[in-house]
Amino acid sequence: MTDRSAYPTNRAAGIKLSKLTKKFGDVVAVDALDLRIEAGQFVTLLGPSGCGKSTSLHMIAGLERATSGTIEIGGRLVSEVPPQDRDIAMVFQSYALYPHYTVWENIAFPLRAKRRRTSKAEVEERVRYASSVLGLDGLLDRYPRELSGGQRQRVALGRATVRQPAAFLLDEPLSNLDVQLRLEMRSELKDLHERLAATMVYVTHDQAEAMVLSDLVVVMNGGVVQQAGTPLDCYNNPANTFVAGFLGEPGMNLLPGRLERERLFVADGVRVRVGEPLPSVVGRAVLGVRPENLALGAAGDDGITGTVRSVELLGSRSLLKVVVDGQTVTASVPPVVGVGPGEEVTLRVTDSAHTRVFDADTGSSLTVSPPAPLPGRHDTLHRVTP
Ligand code: ATP
Repeated sequence: MTDRSAYPTNRAAGIKLSKLTKKFGDVVAVDALDLRIEAGQFVTLLGPSGCGKSTSLHMIAGLERATSGTIEIGGRLVSEVPPQDRDIAMVFQSYALYPHYTVWENIAFPLRAKRRRTSKAEVEERVRYASSVLGLDGLLDRYPRELSGGQRQRVALGRATVRQPAAFLLDEPLSNLDVQLRLEMRSELKDLHERLAATMVYVTHDQAEAMVLSDLVVVMNGGVVQQAGTPLDCYNNPANTFVAGFLGEPGMNLLPGRLERERLFVADGVRVRVGEPLPSVVGRAVLGVRPENLALGAAGDDGITGTVRSVELLGSRSLLKVVVDGQTVTASVPPVVGVGPGEEVTLRVTDSAHTRVFDADTGSSLTVSPPAPLPGRHDTLHRVTP
């Protein structure tokens, strides 16, 4: 067992970003980002390519100068402080290990830099601690070329750990690994965070990573924060159609139509009773329903009626794709569905409490109250006020 007390958890610091903005010429990469990260929190900046997540991280690290706005780490204004004096450690997707140094030497490297002057005994202790937390004990004498990709990334994490930084900044650290290794490293990273109780800011476009790892997910698009919340909240209560479609594999089905009285949503091929409560809105709107909240119904049922385009067997589930008025709707159903392409089917909503309604013009959610949590999803502590 690793002695958790060996890592000084009080080194973890909070981070506050205020109206943080970065422009590259005419391109606004990050637009007035406000974010408060509590000490010890795991926060993920999540979004599609080009949404501004790496630029945000680079500004926190000091690798990119903000056009405007401020950054505080541990209550200290660091906007003008050089990267090496910000008390942070970065881990990138490329491991950037020194090939002619052993694992031990690579991990110890930051402590041996002249300006740090860490005693030999302390270097020894910190490397031993990092190595035991990361399962590198048997590999300390090897060179990077003698390691797998996952092991190399663990060494890079070890090198960050020995510095005992106020915050770890991680930029897609798992994206160079193959799928299996990526899943393993994801669990290890979660474990590392729990053991160190360190502040970690993580950038990824992989929503599963964000869901598994984070206390707080910050979904970005076009340089603008779309929603900041716990993974469960963002998944269950997307603030807008972007978040609804981006989270989930596949994302929420979004169907334009009309909300009538008595919570009835209608469109060509669609007749769905939506969950309560809703603001008293009647008129054009967008219905949101997740694939796992749709099941095959009987002809004549209320629901979504269309023609089967395909059935994709995933093993434990099948994705049933149905074309409804020119738009594809996906249902996640048991593996054997008993219908095939060209057949007309009706998909019924299994629980109206999980339907969502969005404004047809702005895409903002009109559904006000959260539904009951989905079974099996682990809610994390909501320790932040974004
Ligand atoms: P990815 O996942 O592809 O790395 P990202 O979400 O991290 O994307 P950023 O790298 O932060 O996105 O880029 C945000 C926007 O800023 C993009 O439109 C990008 O083209 C632009 N951008 C980033 N760096 C520069 C630069 N040095 N000069 C000009 N434009 C840039």
